[in-house]
Parts: sequence; C-alpha cells; structure tokens
Amino acid sequence: MKVSEIVKDFKPYKVLEGNYRIWLDKNENPFDIPTEIKEEIFEELKNISFNRYPHITADPLRERIAEFLGFEKENVIVGNGSDELISLLLKLFEGDHIVISSPTFGMYSFFAKFEGIDLVDVPLDGRFKLQNVEDYAENARAIFICSPNNPTGNTQEREKIISVLETGAPVVLDEAYIEFAESSNVDLVSEYDNLIVLRTFSKAFGLAGIRVGYAVASKEIIDYLNRIKPPFALNSLSMRIAELMLDHYDLVKQNINYIIKERERIYKEFKDYAYPSEANFLLMRLNAYEFLLERGIVVRNFGGRLDGHIRVTIGKKEENDELIKALKEFLEKEY
Ligand code: PMP
Repeated sequence: MKVSEIVKDFKPYKVLEGNYRIWLDKNENPFDIPTEIKEEIFEELKNISFNRYPHITADPLRERIAEFLGFEKENVIVGNGSDELISLLLKLFEGDHIVISSPTFGMYSFFAKFEGIDLVDVPLDGRFKLQNVEDYAENARAIFICSPNNPTGNTQEREKIISVLETGAPVVLDEAYIEFAESSNVDLVSEYDNLIVLRTFSKAFGLAGIRVGYAVASKEIIDYLNRIKPPFALNSLSMRIAELMLDHYDLVKQNINYIIKERERIYKEFKDYAYPSEANFLLMRLNAYEFLLERGIVVRNFGGRLDGHIRVTIGKKEENDELIKALKEFLEKEY
C-alpha cells in the first residue's frame, strides 16, 4: 500500500478538546432553530421514504432556492455544504492554476493542492481590497473572490468584481456571508456566464450541521456541474430542512438583524483594534487567543500576515458581553 505524497502532506484535523463555555470560532449562527419549528420540521420529515434515494439532482430544493432568488432551477446547484461545490468547481474548467487573494478562506487552496493545481496568491492590500488579480487571469482555472471575505469581514467593490469578470476567466464569487452584508452581486450571473456565486445555509440560516450549500451560475455551467456531481450527495433530510427554512425566512432575517446589531456593538467597543465587517464575525488586531481560551472563550487565531490577530464570531448577547469584558481585561493588562 502506497499513500500518495500529496495526501501525506495534509495534516490531520485537530479537534480542540476542553471544557470551554463560549464557542466563537467557526462563524456559526448562535441560534439553533426554535423547538416549535424543529417539531414542524420533524413532522414533515416523517413523510420522507428513507428506503428511497433522494432526487438525483435535488430538484425540489433547487426550485425553492431559484424562486427565492429570482432565478430558474437550471441556474442553481446544491451541494453537501458549499465546500463540496468548491471541490467540484476545481474539476470543471481547463487551466493550470487558480488565483486566490490571501488572507482568505482556506478551502480554495486545500482543494487546489488536492487536485495538484498551482496556486497563484495575489494578496489583498493593506485595506484587504483585491489587487491586480486580472493580470493572472490567462489560463486560470478559476479566480476566487470571497466577499464578504473570511477572515477579514470586508466586501469587494462591485466595479472590481466586474473588472475581474471582464477577463473572461471563470470567477468564483463566494458569498457565504452575504446575508450579513449590504448588497449581493448574484444578479451579475445574468450578465456574465463566467461567474459562479457560492452560497450556504450554514451561516445566516443556522444550518451548519445540516450541510447544505448552493451555487448560482449560467445554465451551461450548472448543467456541467450536475454531470460530475456525485449523485445523491445531498441526503433527503437535509434537502427538506433547507426548503423548510426558506419558508421561515422571517425568522432567519430576525436573527440576521440581531447578529448585525451585536456586531456593530462589539465593533464600537474595540474600533481601534477591529476591522469593519459585513459578515457575522470581526477580525481584531489583538493577540488575545490564549487569554480568552483561559477564560473559556474559543475564537480563531492565525499565523503569517495575521499573526497576533483573532477572528471572533458574533454570538448571543450574553456571550458577547463576556467576550467584551474579557477583551477589556486583556487590554488593561497588556496595554
Ligand atoms: N465559504 C466561506 C467563505 C466559508 O467561510 C465557509 C465556511 N466556513 C464556506 C464557504 C463553507 O461553508 P459550508 O461548507 O458549510 O457550506
């Protein structure tokens, strides 16, 4: 047995074990689905035949998402989390490299490495804005733009996104956090057939454990993606739950508003250290990872350019109060 050298190069997943009280590390929604709605969902799930495979291309959910966004079913593909769709997108196009702009979401380079595709990193500038990615469009398999960007929280200007689209290279615009932002660029799909917009039910919809993501793109791209997608990847239960949450968008919207309000409250407290954000987290120039951990609060830390920074997910008010208190203590001690 010989395991591939590429695979050997990957590190095992590390799970943080310990008795921590507050988890603000994975950009999850702090609100689970309320019990009444869960009960309604469970009632609905009773009608699903467990012995049957789900719809091969998940059409009932595609139809609901398309209706929600004002597109057609043929413009939408769903996946087992948007992570699955990132891996599929890397198999779809010709080209020898992908373009990313660090610091950004790690799964683009994760899957590129897996596929043996070269990585061209055109780092974000000092204000975390995109630089000259257009210069690397030739022969690119895909250019990844994450807006709002994880972990910096800022969005990219529409004009810049259009300028990248004008190169004609496949552009993957990751809008995982778009519900917390001012505006989306998903409408550009109607104008640019080289644009693929990625979305997820894991953040604003509070369904991270259910694993449903989707992409919106031209009918041609979606058709090709559906051809190479493992059939039945998305299970019947997850599909139905996502559909039902679209019926409860009022609740989703309420939680979004709460999270945005809390985000701005925390931002104001630490505006000398925090970057403005249009997502459900804040990046802060505070080397407080260990300090918070000792107080039972888990956030994300980083290496490289973001060494000494933390990314804090916006939690419930009580959790945020504790975070604010702990960070104030940190500042008193350190500065
Ligand atoms: N894109 C970005 C920018 C993310 O931060 C995440 C989750 N952390 C994802 C995509 C993947 O989301 P999921 O697979 O849960 O849909």
